[in-house]
Amino acid sequence: MFPFGRPRGLVQPTLNKGWVSEIFVSLQGEGPYIGVRQVFIRLSGCSFGCAYCDTKQAWKLVKRAEIFGKTEINPVSVAAVLHAVKAVGPVHSVSITGGEPLEQPEFTRGLLKELKKSGFKTYLETNAAHPLALKQVLKYADIISADIKLPSATGRKAVWKEHREFLRIAGSKAFVKIVVTDSTAEKELISALLMLKNVSPGITACIQPDPALGIKGALKKFGSALSKGILKDLRVTPQVHKIAGIK
Ligand code: SF4
Repeated sequence: MFPFGRPRGLVQPTLNKGWVSEIFVSLQGEGPYIGVRQVFIRLSGCSFGCAYCDTKQAWKLVKRAEIFGKTEINPVSVAAVLHAVKAVGPVHSVSITGGEPLEQPEFTRGLLKELKKSGFKTYLETNAAHPLALKQVLKYADIISADIKLPSATGRKAVWKEHREFLRIAGSKAFVKIVVTDSTAEKELISALLMLKNVSPGITACIQPDPALGIKGALKKFGSALSKGILKDLRVTPQVHKIAGIK
């Protein structure tokens, strides 16, 4: 379940309690749901270590969680999270993000289940490297944002087997995001698109250039891959929250 080792210092999370980094409300800045208002529940702990990660503060389990500006001591209960989320009022959906939520599958399952019971649409953001953990939470996740991790961008080993199994289990609930950087070769991107075509041909896939490459750079670099028509719903999308200067 933890291809890069269980996070250090992890005290076993449960259905009722787990490690939270922060909770806030903002607009979704990535993928096909850009612009929708969401509550973001950012969990702590990720052992993947992507070079481009912009939430490195959430790699380690931290003592304190920041929930709408107030400090809570971890582990935080599902009930406390739910209470805080309900106070926000109507949102499009509640995103459980990280860190890596599926490194705390029991807690993630508890959160998703209670959020759904309270009438929220649930959105799970994950590195798609934990297919077994996905099975534990799938029933309660409405939308799954699954990252495809290209070794050229992450600087880590490939997890194609895990990705294939994850997408097979997630089925039509999933869309994918593929971060590309200046180091990404077109050949590698094409391999990823062919893998997606093979596992889930109707899937929505968003190629997300890192800020240094940008949309223009990506169009120039990957023009040939984009014109091949490998997937029916292939998009190139920026990180809008970074352009807008919001969280
Ligand atoms: S999987 Fe996500 S949280 Fe973990 S290092 Fe990569 S980008 Fe960061």
